[in-house]
Amino acid sequence: MITDITFLQSVYVLKDLPDTGLPEVCVSGRSNIGKSSLINRIARRRNIARISQYPGKTQSLNYYEAGGVYYLVDLPGYGYAKVSKAKRKEFAELMNPYLNTRKEIMGIIQLLDSRHGPVGGDYDMLKWLNDWNGEILYVLTKADKLSRSAGMKVKRNFEKEIGKNAVLFSARTGLGLDSIISWIDRTLGLK
Ligand code: GDP
Repeated sequence: MITDITFLQSVYVLKDLPDTGLPEVCVSGRSNIGKSSLINRIARRRNIARISQYPGKTQSLNYYEAGGVYYLVDLPGYGYAKVSKAKRKEFAELMNPYLNTRKEIMGIIQLLDSRHGPVGGDYDMLKWLNDWNGEILYVLTKADKLSRSAGMKVKRNFEKEIGKNAVLFSARTGLGLDSIISWIDRTLGLK
């Protein structure tokens, strides 16, 4: 488990991607789904990843370096209705080639809201993930907003729908954090 995680850089254009060859684990999800909160938890810091003041603002790949061993990459949040057409284009021009050509991506953590599972733009991402060859972890966020039994039900339904395991996670209580960290370690072959 690596907890020495520091912010490296925001990447707005592909030519600025780091060329060290370190493996990458991406965190993907809609705006406001809880990506920053998850990264803060993995880093065991309160505020390494800025928790968004308003959704839809980040259009960059935010790179965090983990112990010189891998990069945790916070992908730009998708699906925020008020984002302009120009911003959407910018988003696609960065995300599509990044996801489709970046060899360093070893795993993707896909966040979905535990209260209702996939919605809207999540389906495009789920479709893309379905055809992708790397390791995927589905994380159902904000589980503290549900009772334990309601959370388990959403998890079971989602797993049935998608045919893969999911982890219930709460950045508030830490529920699911250990499973997420173990998954990262396994994906990267770390102890
Ligand atoms: P991002 O836009 O995906 O990076 O999402 P953030 O991490 O900034 O979180 C968006 C909002 O959801 C913030 O107000 C967080 O405090 C809240 N949030 C994130 N994770 C949780 C969680 O596990 N439980 C609850 N109750 N709120 C959360």
